[in-house]
Amino acid sequence: MVIRSCNLETVCGPTSTLPKNDLPEVAFAGKSNVGKSSLINAVMNRKSLARVSAQPGKTQTINFYNINDEIYVVDLPGYGFAKASEKERERWGKMIETYLNTSDMIRAVFLLVDIRHTPSANDKQMFEWMAYVGYDPIVIATKADKIKRSQLDKQIKILREGLGADKDTIIVPFSSQTKQGLDTIQDFLDQVIEN
Ligand code: GDP
Repeated sequence: MVIRSCNLETVCGPTSTLPKNDLPEVAFAGKSNVGKSSLINAVMNRKSLARVSAQPGKTQTINFYNINDEIYVVDLPGYGFAKASEKERERWGKMIETYLNTSDMIRAVFLLVDIRHTPSANDKQMFEWMAYVGYDPIVIATKADKIKRSQLDKQIKILREGLGADKDTIIVPFSSQTKQGLDTIQDFLDQVIEN
């Protein structure tokens, strides 16, 4: 995909009303620090439109990026921030749940997990949630540059089992450093735009 324009069009906090968009939306979720901002910047071919967090867990909003007036990339709040209070965690969960349940324009949901680690309980819950509301989440295994190629299959297997994903679930290894997997993610967006 060629990025002609991209704008952060809407930012929703916990009490904001979600926008009623008339373009397809693709949503990205993942725990805080998983590399979501870096991925979104890579997709948009921008250095720092999505804020790469020096302080994990700080940006707890849903951000809608309008790309080319063709599609919205929706950046969901990073969950599972260890220092968050119980109340904050509940609020983020609610925001994500409300978004997934109410937007009519969601055409794909991506769940980011770190390729090096066994998925957390939060990751698993998010995957189950996405499936429960009727999506087939596409899993993005981030920071793929941090493992050896020879470990790839093993790590993908750990992710699949840890999330309780079946064999049909797509898992895309991705690195914002090497751009491995970026083409695949852009192809998904192109498919959404074309449909
Ligand atoms: P977010 O909290 O999920 O938005 O994560 P960020 O994009 O802010 O990234 C968190 C940290 O991981 C930052 O220090 C990034 O530089 C680093 N990071 C993100 N993506 C990658 C990647 O693909 N490879 C490596 N090695 N580091 C990454």
